[in-house]
Amino acid sequence: GQLDERIVYLSSKNSIETHDVNPAYTSQYCPICGQHFEERYGNHHELTKCKKCS
Ligand SMILES: [Zn+2]
Repeated sequence: GQLDERIVYLSSKNSIETHDVNPAYTSQYCPICGQHFEERYGNHHELTKCKKCS
């Protein structure tokens, strides 16, 4: 029925949003020097601080 289709639509939409994240913001490593990030901050932990570069 219509309700089931809506649930499938919403869950697939959520899964797309969950996986549609810029790799640059989720990487554990500095894209400049390759240093492993030890600190993450920001509302979604999307920001990183590199000890070598900062
Ligand atoms: Zn770095």
